[in-house]
Amino acid sequence: MDNSIPYKTYLAEDELPDSWYNVRADMKKKPAPLVNPATLKPCTATDLEAVFCADLVKQELDDQNPLFPIPGDIRDFYRMFRPSPLIRAYFLEKALGTPARIFYKFEGNNTSGSHKLNSAVAQAYYAKAQGLKGVTTETGAGQWGTALSMACAFFGLDCRVYMVKCSYEQKPFRREVMRTYGATVTPSPSMTTRIGEKINREHPGTTGSLGCAISEAVEAAVSNPGYRYVLGSVLNQVLLHQSIIGLEAHTAFRKLGIMPDVVIGCAGGGSNLGGLIAPFMGEKLRGERDCRFVAVEPESCPSLTRGRYAYDYCDTGRICPLAKMYTLGADFIPSANHAGGLRYHGMSPVLSELYDQGMMEAVSVKQTDVFAAAQYFARTEGILPAPESSHAIRAAIDEAVKCREEGRAETILFGLTGTGYFDMTAYQAYNDHSMSDYIPTDDELEQSFAKLPKA
Ligand SMILES: *Cc1c(COP(=O)(O)O)cnc(C)c1O
Repeated sequence: MDNSIPYKTYLAEDELPDSWYNVRADMKKKPAPLVNPATLKPCTATDLEAVFCADLVKQELDDQNPLFPIPGDIRDFYRMFRPSPLIRAYFLEKALGTPARIFYKFEGNNTSGSHKLNSAVAQAYYAKAQGLKGVTTETGAGQWGTALSMACAFFGLDCRVYMVKCSYEQKPFRREVMRTYGATVTPSPSMTTRIGEKINREHPGTTGSLGCAISEAVEAAVSNPGYRYVLGSVLNQVLLHQSIIGLEAHTAFRKLGIMPDVVIGCAGGGSNLGGLIAPFMGEKLRGERDCRFVAVEPESCPSLTRGRYAYDYCDTGRICPLAKMYTLGADFIPSANHAGGLRYHGMSPVLSELYDQGMMEAVSVKQTDVFAAAQYFARTEGILPAPESSHAIRAAIDEAVKCREEGRAETILFGLTGTGYFDMTAYQAYNDHSMSDYIPTDDELEQSFAKLPKA
């Protein structure tokens, strides 16, 4: 190992960023506003406050202010698991024989097992500060529900989670973690909401989708006094909270006296990638330093690489605001791939706009190639990665191999968003060679695009 760069770079607790960074402030052309589905006009704060916490609505709508101070209680909570380490992947580099320097920012060092806790604690804090009784949400793979349960337990809030039915049945341990932290977990679609009943009636035996669970959670929030709905990705506020990942990485690189040439992250709704790239993208937007950014998505759910940039519904029940984003259509149900956290039909409006402006690249990768990368990484670097995170590993390995072939010594940073202990059925399918690669056809996508709102 090169002794000038440690294997792990930790920041001290007092080096935790004291503000989140809002990349929208540095974008000349801003992301398009959310639109009210009833009036088809941009959502006002009043529209959004019926569903979301008031302080979070302020963050959602603010595209001017670059820095939001992190409240002391949230910073204190962050100290339980942050700063997270920036790790130099020496063993992976050696195994690949690449001249590239590979770094990863590891977000799996907390019980929820992912970066989702960074936003969960912020959202729970603001709900509590507003005097609310509780929050409702949906969870697909289960990481977001787990993170939110932990945050709600800490602040003494009730937490009601609508969990996509197939995950509820396949991942009983995730459910038990949530219940241990005091959350109520309901399989979705359920018979406890009007929209859930309707979906069950129209699609008997359905195993649910993220879009359905969102509709149920929103209905539960607006029909229970003292409750609001919270969301773990896609929204501007979530990217803002996740900027903590990028800000810490930026500080760590500054201390090492180097900077990444390329930053890679997996993209489901875009929150970890948006957070990881934020300060580096800010430098690029302000013309201070150039850097490449790569979003990695599954070939089974290719919103950036094959989707349309259009206004679309965020949920199946069509009760949420419309967002302008790269989308596969709100009714698109991706095949049952094993990266549950990357199965959303849309993409963060911030990342969508940056991608549309050519500030960011996107690639899509095959599921079996992703698990080959996951296994290689586990055997070289020791950490058992989440399937979602392994999309970023795949692209980082491909980039490092290209560096070897072209004799380039670039510096690569990727986001390792979480650990894969609850995904062992997926690893089992890979180890048993029974994993398949489903890629939607152009026809299937066209059928879904035909249903996009005509607004
Ligand atoms: C949820 C999740 C993702 C994807 O969500 P983004 O909002 O795109 O970051 C990626 N990795 C893990 C481990 C997750 O839990």
